Amino acid sequence: MTSAPPLAGPALDVLNRIFGYAGFRGGQREIIEHVIGGGDALVLMPTGGGKSLCYQIPALVRDGTGVVISPLIALMQDQVDALRTLGVRAGFLNSTQAPDERRLTEQLFLAGELDLLYVAPEGLGVAATQRLLDRGRISLFAIDEAHCVSQWGHDFRPDYLNLSMLHERWPEVPRIALTATATSATREEIATRLDLTGARHFTASFDRPNIQYRIVAKNEPRRQLLDLLRTEHPGDAGIVYCLSRASVEKTAEFLTQNGIAALPYHAGLDARTRAANQSRFLREDGLVMVATIAFGMGIDKPDVRFVAHLDLPKSVEGYYQETGRAGRDGLPSTAWLAYGLQDVVQQRKMIETSDGDLAHRRNLGTHLDAMLALCETVQCRRAQLLAYFGQTADPACGNCDTCLTPPESWDGTVPAQKLLSTVLRLQRERGQKFGAGQSIDILLGKTTEKVTQFRHQELSVFGIGTDLREQEWRGVVRQLLAQGLLAVEGDYGTLTLTDASSAVLRGEHQVMMRREPERTRAPRARRSS
Ligand code: ADP
Ligand code: ZN
Repeated sequence: MTSAPPLAGPALDVLNRIFGYAGFRGGQREIIEHVIGGGDALVLMPTGGGKSLCYQIPALVRDGTGVVISPLIALMQDQVDALRTLGVRAGFLNSTQAPDERRLTEQLFLAGELDLLYVAPEGLGVAATQRLLDRGRISLFAIDEAHCVSQWGHDFRPDYLNLSMLHERWPEVPRIALTATATSATREEIATRLDLTGARHFTASFDRPNIQYRIVAKNEPRRQLLDLLRTEHPGDAGIVYCLSRASVEKTAEFLTQNGIAALPYHAGLDARTRAANQSRFLREDGLVMVATIAFGMGIDKPDVRFVAHLDLPKSVEGYYQETGRAGRDGLPSTAWLAYGLQDVVQQRKMIETSDGDLAHRRNLGTHLDAMLALCETVQCRRAQLLAYFGQTADPACGNCDTCLTPPESWDGTVPAQKLLSTVLRLQRERGQKFGAGQSIDILLGKTTEKVTQFRHQELSVFGIGTDLREQEWRGVVRQLLAQGLLAVEGDYGTLTLTDASSAVLRGEHQVMMRREPERTRAPRARRSS
């Protein structure tokens, strides 16, 4: 080959010279050229896909300062430091900053000596900040984590709603909105709310082929987790997500006692401990971070080998974003989730008791349903995940648990009828509602104290379910909940019928169920090339 001159263009030059990368990734080139040319853009790219360069390079190439709106105040200092190391003139304005520092940043901006200025969304609502921006020269606005504008999403920030004023106040400045999580509905919402309907949409593939997705039935979650770490990820760095602070603490302690280097992270820890644990996780090898979902936004650690969920995420968006923190270096990684009946009961209860109107609760319910459907699917997890984001994929990826050990599906109509009849009889004949535990005890014919107390042994359904084990009955309840054929309500998570239940009871609706593969241990990972 002759030594042809490198592709011309200031963008590539900046990529090589300043960032030290040989070439663009995925859709970066097109996006960057579009924004340099002054166009508006809405960019959908998965976590780790390289969104930052999509606005950083145009900001460096165009005249003036690129203003980046980001909700991640805690990370601004780090982001700015990282850019300065590369020789990029960057600064930030936020509420945590000392007055002197702020004044200096403002002066640099007005003197045209900043390439990038990071601003918190609430800061843009302040008149003084708006006047400051009026007096300088802005090359572009980048709206990071743009899904925060979606009231139906899982990360809503009211301050984002004001960002439509960017276009009104500075109509000639190009805007680029970026997000890693958006279904087509959210994308539409972002475009409308940010006044970006004329923007060009760029959508990168959401597939993360090196991540192996696995969802297992939860029985002894911490033991199951320990088993996973010992057999498949000894010495690896990873993140374990738990729903509550208490379970973060307990899990971190449990892992430590069992010889695994683990640190806790949640909002209840003081800021110093949090920062210390985070920086140890980033800098040291092979640490396991046990955290609530407060941890991870904006974290860029390439060699996270696994992300484990001990509790069910509230939405597929959340699940995708959290699991997406695994394997940014492209090497084989595991996304592992343990999920059980209790998760469903607890989350339904949280939704029911949450603030907000009916529409809001319905919306939370829809998000949860999609997550449950992913858990109970007998099809390829990856295909279902991508379909959720509106992307088509191979029907079988070969690198998820359902592809590697196909679960059998079985006709669960009769057990479903038995369970629903139990709920129905309790309600009709006794005017009572109970949780899953009591209903299962009745089906199994157990004469527990509570059964005797309520004379449930006299019900005609007593003992008609001895053909299944307790664990299997819990699976039946879980799947009926996931399929909307049964519902939970109230503080005690009592079971109740839904509109769809009667078709099952009348024998008009066949109920297919997923049979859990016996082993919880994983099949060998297919190496991604
Ligand atoms: P996102 O914001 O989409 O999650 P980042 O912008 O943080 O992703 O990029 C993820 C990682 O990929 C970073 O370490 C970044 O430096 C790296 N990266 C981005 N673009 C390129 C590229 N063209 N070549 C090599 N590495 C890149
Ligand atoms: Zn698959």
